[in-house]
Amino acid sequence: MSMRRDVLPFSAPCLGDEEIAEVNAVLRSGWLTTGPRVEQFEAALAEYLGGEVQVVAVNSGTAALHLAVLGAGLGDGDEVITTPLTWPATANMIMLAGARPVFVDIDRQTLNLLPDQVERAITRHTKAVLPVHFAGLCCEMAALGETARRRRLCIIEDAAHALGAACPQGQAGCLGLAGCFSFHPTKPITTGEGGALVTADRQLADKARLLRFHGVTRGARARMSGTMEYEVTALGFKYNMLDLQAAIGLHQLARADQMRRQREQLATLYRRLLGELDGDLLDLPSPAPAGWRHAWHLYVVKLRLERLKLDRAAFRAALRERNIATGLHYLGLHLQPLYRRELGCRAEDFPNATWASERVVSLPLFAGMTDEDAAYVAQTVREVLSENAR
Ligand SMILES: *Cc1c(COP(=O)(O)O)cnc(C)c1O
Repeated sequence: MSMRRDVLPFSAPCLGDEEIAEVNAVLRSGWLTTGPRVEQFEAALAEYLGGEVQVVAVNSGTAALHLAVLGAGLGDGDEVITTPLTWPATANMIMLAGARPVFVDIDRQTLNLLPDQVERAITRHTKAVLPVHFAGLCCEMAALGETARRRRLCIIEDAAHALGAACPQGQAGCLGLAGCFSFHPTKPITTGEGGALVTADRQLADKARLLRFHGVTRGARARMSGTMEYEVTALGFKYNMLDLQAAIGLHQLARADQMRRQREQLATLYRRLLGELDGDLLDLPSPAPAGWRHAWHLYVVKLRLERLKLDRAAFRAALRERNIATGLHYLGLHLQPLYRRELGCRAEDFPNATWASERVVSLPLFAGMTDEDAAYVAQTVREVLSENAR
């Protein structure tokens, strides 16, 4: 196969004329910040998720996590069980709220939290479990939900990868007290930057709405007297989403299912083209079990390093030389200086997460990619791995 001339990114947003026209309309309207489009986007996302939830749109997935953790009342002295194989935001928001992330090990195949490890990590300080639906495949919510009920813990989902995912318990983001989505450009849908907190709990939603904008309300007195006055009732943040962002999100959301299906078809194609190497030179991600829906945010393969003469960095460099960019999701947080220092984590305490941290590579996967792109990636991966098999 001849070398492609341009670099294939590992992810790229899929933006249509509708997004461009809507952003233009916002610019022409003169109202750029939080306004009618944000309200429309919140309503559309609630509808997409089945209509029973409150949606609080914010300016990042990180902000959604922060408000969820604070809204759930987590803070000093509380422990929150989560995965080390995630983006730093997951653990950082727990820590910024004053609580302590407690990492537990993951499954080598799905890279999701192991429910029995969660159970074993519970102490009298544990207040919540914060699962990440890795790459868009839901965690084992039946087991996690059962543990949470029995031990009186709340569940906050980091659903940054998982818009459109589902399992027998329901849709990702709606499986616990609160769900947090990210609309960063690499995520299932984008608003440029952005996020949303989703909850069926009205009190939590109200608290998140208050904290998202400085803790400022138009107080009851101001409302009753019809004046334009306001009150500061809580120590809040500046996490509001802009109408400019919501304008993009409205049209992305309308195409969310279509884009998910396109990614799913590409994942199926990868499995067909790389299946021969599966369990030999690398491990492919599993498709969703029957009755589940995978969001296919990422296509993460694990290299079988013991079978190869090259390491991950060399593998990624070989792909890059052939104009294929790859991603790295993730280097376990338990290996990073901050959490080693603050939480005392050690590599050997999470053998599966350490194993995964050394082997994961994200191959290109996004809705705008063609079958030819996927075939080029698969062919290149086959060549590089077979040339370097031991
Ligand atoms: C992207 C991501 C976040 C943070 O979302 P932002 O919108 O970038 O703030 C949090 N957790 C996970 C697992 C993510 O992938």
